[in-house]
Amino acid sequence: MVAAIENGTVIDHIPSNKLFQVVRLLHLDLQKSAVMVGYNLPSSKMGNKSIIKIADKFFSDAELNTLSVVAPNVTLCIIRDFEVVEKKCVTLPRTITGIVRCANPKCITNNEPMPTRFHVSDAENGTIQCDYCEKEQPLETVKLV
Ligand code: ZN
Repeated sequence: MVAAIENGTVIDHIPSNKLFQVVRLLHLDLQKSAVMVGYNLPSSKMGNKSIIKIADKFFSDAELNTLSVVAPNVTLCIIRDFEVVEKKCVTLPRTITGIVRCANPKCITNNEPMPTRFHVSDAENGTIQCDYCEKEQPLETVKLV
């Protein structure tokens, strides 16, 4: 449904309601090469899903792992010469810096110009905790900075 790319990265199984957060996290709005987006495609596994194909772009693991904050179950395919040469999953980084907003309005990170920093406090339930004010929040409800 979405045209094949010769070289680049395919991000599959994105929950459709997280598509725009994925676009923001990878700064795809600033991409110079072609970006193809399939939104609300039927998926046997998920009901519906979204997919992004980015031509001529290969991300670092650190960049890709930021996706785990909003879409932990995405599948990544690295494409060369129209072939999938590598498949990857994302893993939640131990420290999450400068990506997520703290849910505590009184937190210093919401009142001073500084990057936020969280650590995973409960990996099983997907809970992160602010390093500054210790406020916990579930990953499902995080807002990006
Ligand atoms: Zn905080």
